[in-house]
Order: sequence, then C-alpha cells, then structure tokens
Amino acid sequence: MASAANDYDVELTGLLGELVAIPSFSGEEGAVQDRICRWFVDHGIDVDIEEADGGLQNVVVTIEGDGDGPVLWIGGHCDTVGIASGWTRVPHASKIEDNRLYGLGSMDMKGGLAAAMYAVRELSERSGEWAGKVIFAALADEEAYSRGANAFVRKERGIDAAVMCEPHFHDVVIGAMGKINLRVEVKGRSAHGSRPEEGVNAVTEAAKLLVAIDGLERFSHPDFGRASHCVLNMTSGDGRYEIRVPDHAAFVVNWHFMPGETVESALETLRNLADGLNSRAQFAITVGEPRYESFMLDKDDGFVAQFAESYRRIIGKEPDLRFGRGVSDANIFAGRAGIPTLLFGPDGANMHAGDEWVDLDQLHLARRTYLDFALRFLKSKNESTMK
Ligand SMILES: [Zn+2]
Repeated sequence: MASAANDYDVELTGLLGELVAIPSFSGEEGAVQDRICRWFVDHGIDVDIEEADGGLQNVVVTIEGDGDGPVLWIGGHCDTVGIASGWTRVPHASKIEDNRLYGLGSMDMKGGLAAAMYAVRELSERSGEWAGKVIFAALADEEAYSRGANAFVRKERGIDAAVMCEPHFHDVVIGAMGKINLRVEVKGRSAHGSRPEEGVNAVTEAAKLLVAIDGLERFSHPDFGRASHCVLNMTSGDGRYEIRVPDHAAFVVNWHFMPGETVESALETLRNLADGLNSRAQFAITVGEPRYESFMLDKDDGFVAQFAESYRRIIGKEPDLRFGRGVSDANIFAGRAGIPTLLFGPDGANMHAGDEWVDLDQLHLARRTYLDFALRFLKSKNESTMK
C-alpha cells in the first residue's frame, strides 16, 4: 500500500512540474488548459470546455458516484501573474530542491490544482464508494478580472460545497473581505474661467466629496477589524490648457468591506455622502469590474466540520480556520453566487514574487485531504438522506 501512495506522489509531482512549465498568464491559459484536458482524457474522464467572456475558457469535469447525493466542487484557477523581478531560477523550468518545487504558479496555484486533479481521478476510479457528483474546474483569469469564475457561476449547478485549492495549508480560509471599485462621475457646468460663479466646477465639487469620503468612519467587525477604502486616482479635462470651469471630473475608490457589508450598502453610503453635500454638481456612482463580495462561513457549518475532521485525520492537527484579507475566485463563488466555499491547498513562499515555490509534502497531504473529505462529504450526506 505504501508503494502505491508513493507512486501517486511521484506522478503528481511530475504533473505539477509539467503544468508549471507551461506559461499561463491571465488571459493566455489555452495551452495549460489543453494539457489539463488531455490528462483527464488519458485517464478516461470526459471534459467539457465552457466559454467565458473575452474568448476565455474554463475546463470543467463532472463525475458521478453511485446514486443521488450532494454536489461537491473542487478546483481553482490555472492562470498566473506575470514574471516578477527577483527570479534567480528560470520561472517556467519547475526545479525541485529540498522538497520544494520552484516555478511561476507552483504555489499559486498549480500545486493545488494538480492535487485536485489527482483526487478527482481517484474518486472516479472509486465511484462505487460515494454518491452524488463532483465537479472540477480549471478557471481562467483569476489574477485579473475573474472572468472564468464569473462565467462558471452564471450557470446553476446545485453545488452544495466548494473547495478552492488556493495555497492555504496551515490557515484554512472560510471567509474573506470583499473588494470593489466605486467609480464616481461628477458633472458640473462650464463657464469662462474669469467668471467661475457662472459655472459649476466639477473638480472642486469632487474635492468636497473626496474629503467627506476620507473622513468616513467605516464598519468594524468584532473579529476581523475595521474595513478600509482608498481613493486610487482622479481625472478631469483632456489635458489641454483652457481658461474654462471644468464640467467633468471622475475618480475611483477602492472599497474593502467585511462580512455584514454589501455592495449595495457601499453604494448607498457614497450616494448619501454626495446627497449631503447639497452640491449643484451631479454625482453618478457605479460599481466597476472586477467585483468581489465578502463572505463568511459558519465554523459550525456541517461542511466546515467535515472538512476539519479530514484535516485532523490526514494532517494530524486542528485546522486554523481564518478570515482572509485577500480576494480570490472564492469571493465570486461564495459572495456572489452563495456557494459555501473554503480555501485549502499546498502552501510555499514567494507568490507573485521571484523564486516562487510550493512544498511537496503539503502537495501530497493536500491531495489526501481532498480525497478523504470528498469521500466523507459525499457519503455522509447520502447516509443522512437515507434515514
Ligand atoms: Zn491564486
């Protein structure tokens, strides 16, 4: 038995090395997705290619167990950020040193994705041991606009729980902050610059709102602290020198929010501030893409409890269930589409930086945890429905 597990480990490391060696910057995932498709087909598992915006695609695999049961999603994104400075190794050469696999995307998150692929393959081979459905997806564009995840959740699939295989090994993330960009357009009225009282200066009116935004007292969550926001930029005019009262200005506020706050409440807050100015200018406030709602799972949720049980069994300690401060496709799944989602996968170091690596022990432990959890989740729900 031990040698079988070792074979799996060797094969999984090999697959990860291959995936890392294929460049897949956001929006250019085609080649790595081809490889993922081929791998499934080689193992007798059917693959669907689903369209996403901008000509992008998601690779989707659905396998069925023995009879009706819950639907579990597992997977993640297959794109990477660009090549950061500070690489002392070749970013797409996937080199193993000291039980670490180095390469761009090794940690974020081809490690988790490869481990999930192996878990799906084993579940497919053992389909008589569980009930329901497992859906895997290799999503495009997470590091940019999450166009892959947004396309994926547009279709209703009845997913009961999702494991996003992002690099969170010691800290299992069960909730995350939200982040949106609020674009404010300010419309004034032009007049000759020597008679400013005859116009409505969009820039000075925008400045009044900016000062009000700066002074906002934000919501504070008892466990996760205070939400924050930051004005990113401001534009006005077309760069020409003109003695004219500017009739247009625009700025973008990057708005981070906690569970308990919503996109609608953010819009309402800014609209109320603008209304309170009693300005003669008009303010139009909209939400731009990418857009990430916040989410928070209950620690006592059955899904979380069952995952924690598998984590204890395979990893041998209590999982540290955390709230994350970064956004990911999990915000789209959980925050936007309402799919209970947690983030767990092999970790390493230097993500989005030079010499990124993933820990190979964690890679193999993650695969075993995914499998143990899937068998537990897909069986226990089935058993409880039989009562
Ligand atoms: Zn990631």
